[in-house]
Amino acid sequence: MENILEKLKKGNERFTKGISVNPNQSLERCKETSKGQKPFTVVVTCSDSRVPPEIIFDAGIGDLFVIRLAGNILTNEGIASIEYATAHLGVEQIVILGHTNCGAVKAAVETNMNPQDAHLSQYLKILIDKIDTNLIIEDKNINKSVDLSTDNLIKNSANELKNILNKLIPDNSVNVTGAKYNIETGEVYFFN
Ligand SMILES: [Zn+2]
Repeated sequence: MENILEKLKKGNERFTKGISVNPNQSLERCKETSKGQKPFTVVVTCSDSRVPPEIIFDAGIGDLFVIRLAGNILTNEGIASIEYATAHLGVEQIVILGHTNCGAVKAAVETNMNPQDAHLSQYLKILIDKIDTNLIIEDKNINKSVDLSTDNLIKNSANELKNILNKLIPDNSVNVTGAKYNIETGEVYFFN
């Protein structure tokens, strides 16, 4: 598992140094992977357009099995997708990748601080409620609260997923790691 995380870290390092090699992005790779996929990592991340997993990890077609929803939240459908990737595609590493300045987390923080000002549709309410249980509100400071809450959401999601996989898979050896992407520097920080 170490080597998979190392591979992701090295890919991100190439990206931040401006020396990406853009691997596995040819038509040849399309043809090769059309016979079957063997991604090396699941990435659960935010829909935010500034967080494109293949680019920030300098990866390509068939490399990453990606689940994206605003706020990198875990839903039943997302968990089912992860179950498929681990049970049928043999993926042994999952990264829960949050990011700085997440709009979804910020919306949850603002709603929590000023519920009277929130005008959420039924759909947004479901999303915000899911993030709300992970919030850490400090000093009525929005930026600080978003930062702390994002870390907490990543860690809680990683723990939740670990527990679920332990129940789903006998002798579970899948590794779940939390990480946070800095949308300004391009760097991914891995927890633990
Ligand atoms: Zn986000």
